[in-house]
Amino acid sequence: YDLTPEDLAALAGEEAPETEAALPTLAVVGRPNVGKSTLVNRIIGRRLAVVEDTPGVTRDRVSYPAEWAGTDFMLMDTGGWEAKVQGLDLSVAQQAEVAIDMADAILFVVDATVGATASDEKVVRLLRKSGKPVVLAANKVDGPQGELEAASLWNLGLGEPYPVSALHGRGTGDLLDAAVAALPTEMEQVAVDPEAPRRIALVGRPNVGKSSLLNQLAGERRVVVDETAGTTRDPVDERVEIGGRAWTLVDTAGIRRRVHMTKGADFYASLRTGAAIERAEVALVLLDASVPLTDQDTRVISQVVEAGRAMVLVFNKWDLVGEDERFLLERSIEQDLVQLPWALRINLSARTGWHTNRLVPAIDLALGSWDQRISTGRLNSFLGELVAEHPHPVRSGKQPKILFATQASTRPPRFVIFTSGFLDPTYRRFIERRLREAFGFEGSPLQISVRVRE
Ligand code: GDP
Ligand code: GDP
Repeated sequence: YDLTPEDLAALAGEEAPETEAALPTLAVVGRPNVGKSTLVNRIIGRRLAVVEDTPGVTRDRVSYPAEWAGTDFMLMDTGGWEAKVQGLDLSVAQQAEVAIDMADAILFVVDATVGATASDEKVVRLLRKSGKPVVLAANKVDGPQGELEAASLWNLGLGEPYPVSALHGRGTGDLLDAAVAALPTEMEQVAVDPEAPRRIALVGRPNVGKSSLLNQLAGERRVVVDETAGTTRDPVDERVEIGGRAWTLVDTAGIRRRVHMTKGADFYASLRTGAAIERAEVALVLLDASVPLTDQDTRVISQVVEAGRAMVLVFNKWDLVGEDERFLLERSIEQDLVQLPWALRINLSARTGWHTNRLVPAIDLALGSWDQRISTGRLNSFLGELVAEHPHPVRSGKQPKILFATQASTRPPRFVIFTSGFLDPTYRRFIERRLREAFGFEGSPLQISVRVRE
């Protein structure tokens, strides 16, 4: 191979945007079949194709990185939600409510060939109430003859309808110009500022103690950072001081607000958790130490790992655990988490404040791992030694060779290994284990992809 390390690094893929977590979110909302998914695919299509052979990247993301005219943002696709509610009939309006709550601006899609229906009108009322910026797409205007129908959507009172054809691309440029203009800009400034407070999500199933811990941490000193002028909605993010430093707690409104929705409440909660995780750099996963781990707990943990965020597992309510139970409890927790040897754990009590001073050091350690970059030189000398000592097993007469590796990005650390053949999953895991032994990375997931060169 006549490629320089720089060539290979370029091949390994563009650096993922390091500030994805802090990008503003545009949600695409509308009735089924109006063309939401088609539009989303048109906007992010090329980006999605890049999602590659990284094991574990199988999650249903809540939103995707997108870019238009130099503005980076997250695009939230509600098109797939219907399918995932599984029997629970989340109405269009309920779904819109969830999306509106989690987004910074809304792209509302109406089928211009059908016109506004009663359920479109319902969504319009919610949009108005929210006070969030809305851009109206009159979709399925595949040619000039549809423009008139699109113009009738002025009646909705949401401003100019943008006639578009999600299918053919017609008019989508103007629509995106308007959508990008509707997004708040302060968040981006925060994102490029290296001194900006780091973003923490406090997640976990109901009743593990999220609001209690939030109150402990935030105390009286909380400052609202994301207050939309002229609306009464709860602040989504709050700036708090913990351990004498400023942090941004993501989606505290979701923690403070009790979900009243009966239909689809779990679905709502899990979407909201997913969105909070994606907007954060580090997730504190709260668990109740006084009861065994539940499936819901493990689901939240997987959400964090798959989203590639730094993680600290916080076992709360230790004041309920008797002295004599502690040893056995620790042992059983070890057992539960045997698949996640890199996870950082702390035991505390949100009620008494016991050990809450251990949070900041754990968060710092996890974020340090998440940010860590190993130089290409160090990485390859490490792999060279590893392979010399423990070569890949020979499979039907063949032995894949490791040619070269590079760390393609940080946040989370992502490694790309170029090989002459497919690696056994066990060998991949062996490499990950050794990478961690050599370089730490406690509290951060690692992504390792393998590129087979012919
Ligand atoms: P969603 O349920 O809102 O996500 O809608 P989809 O994106 O799945 O689209 C529903 C149907 O409308 C599909 O058959 C699409 O091919 C079609 N469709 C979407 N956008 C357009 C468009 O701009 N023009 C036409 N003619 N059909 C479209
Ligand atoms: P959330 O639903 O995750 O926000 O949980 P809450 O903060 O509302 O707590 C649920 C219940 O657990 C409440 O009754 C809290 O008082 C209680 N709780 C929270 N943290 C602790 C703790 O550290 N020790 C004990 N004993 N109870 C706690």
